[in-house]
Amino acid sequence: MNYHPASPLHTAPVVAVIGGGPAGLMAAEVLAQAGVRVDLYDAMPSVGRKFLMAGKGGMNITHAEPFDVFLTRYGTQRNRIEPLLRAFPPEALREWIHGLGIATFVGTSSRVFPSDMKAAPLLRAWLHRLRESGVRFHARHRWCGWDEQGALRFDTPDGQRIVHADAVVLALGGGSWPQLGSDGAWVSLLAQRGIAIAPLRPSNCGFDVRWSAHFRERFAGEPLKSVAASFGDVRKQGECLVTEHGIEGGLIYALSAALRDEIERSGSAILHLDLLPDWPLQRVQTEVSHPRGAHSLSSHLQSRLGLKGVKANLLREALSAEQMHDTALLARAIKALPLRLVAARPLGEAISSAGGVTFEAADEHLMLRKMPGVFCAGEMLDWEAPTGGYLLSACFASGHAAGNGVLEWLQQPRPAQGL
Ligand SMILES: Cc1cc2nc3c(=O)[nH]c(=O)nc-3n(C[C@H](O)[C@H](O)[C@H](O)COP(=O)(O)OP(=O)(O)OC[C@H]3O[C@@H](n4cnc5c(N)ncnc54)[C@H](O)[C@@H]3O)c2cc1C
Repeated sequence: MNYHPASPLHTAPVVAVIGGGPAGLMAAEVLAQAGVRVDLYDAMPSVGRKFLMAGKGGMNITHAEPFDVFLTRYGTQRNRIEPLLRAFPPEALREWIHGLGIATFVGTSSRVFPSDMKAAPLLRAWLHRLRESGVRFHARHRWCGWDEQGALRFDTPDGQRIVHADAVVLALGGGSWPQLGSDGAWVSLLAQRGIAIAPLRPSNCGFDVRWSAHFRERFAGEPLKSVAASFGDVRKQGECLVTEHGIEGGLIYALSAALRDEIERSGSAILHLDLLPDWPLQRVQTEVSHPRGAHSLSSHLQSRLGLKGVKANLLREALSAEQMHDTALLARAIKALPLRLVAARPLGEAISSAGGVTFEAADEHLMLRKMPGVFCAGEMLDWEAPTGGYLLSACFASGHAAGNGVLEWLQQPRPAQGL
């Protein structure tokens, strides 16, 4: 949609996009391509820091599974995210990436990656295109709210700056990895304005387990490979990591929303680990019960089941000496070792945030009902999703929606005043 001034009295609008992550940059792109003047502000010395970090371990930008399945990843907020994704679906995102000269490929489990797995070339090409289309970047501009006249206040290295804008897109991120810029400090600024905000909580996070000092000292940092984790009726196979505090990694992240909610409800959650996910219980039972002669239990478990190191010691961590010698119980524990998780790791360590500006506080264009002309996009909205490209997909889609929402809003006649 192109911008056409609503009335001849109206001067060319200026839109402030605050936050230069994928959501804000996408909103800026939609606006700039429609001919609107865009100023993009970010607190950090450069934009896209979390996006670049997401590219460190292989940037999983979206997912190629059927769209109906894709939508289920947004859980209870599916209905809120669905219209955004329908307007900018995963295929459109891939085409958009291709338009930047970056190829994509579908990897294992239908995850989609840029061909070199990195975020930096994509971000470089994108920023170049944004600058070419007239977006003006203002780094080291920390947004601190509004002044009495409704103008935007920024802290900059040269002191405070007051900015008037015809519309604002807030794309300030959640509260995870605050060292990359999104520190959740915006929560109080919007709450003061009466905007309903669900508390920010860790999502895709690790958990605390009360390891014994011995186990922690010996095994913190050890990967648990080829295990399955179950909670409720969900079972996932993969890898995780024993940490000083407890347990983390992709396998745990996949179950983390339900585990976190259970801990909030009842103080702890029991996760079951299957240490030999490819072995049926019957086979484990047979091998455990095999006469071991003069062998110690440790060498028996190693020789007959291949259980050693961190896996074997996890059993000792969870079972008493007596239980270790009960073959039926030991076999069951190998297939479903109960681990009591006592707390989610802090938000700052999580991959992403749950909570944020509620969808009820915004209209279908993501404009705040109480603050006409102010739009929100990205992880600062109240949704969560597992890793797998779902986070970035919804950030891009919501930035796209907010950009289009601003264009529509700018068409409407309104008194000429700053926000
Ligand atoms: C280690 C890691 C790996 C990840 N890997 C993946 C992955 O592979 N796939 C995936 O889909 N997702 C991944 N994610 C999640 C994904 O990176 C985020 O969901 C996404 O970056 C959020 O985008 P956003 O635009 O909403 O916010 P952000 O990217 O957080 O950007 C927000 C911006 O706002 C700025 N800002 C905040 N407050 C202010 C203020 N007051 N004034 C001015 N500027 C401000 C910040 O500096 C920042 O630049 C990963 C995250 C992490 C931490």
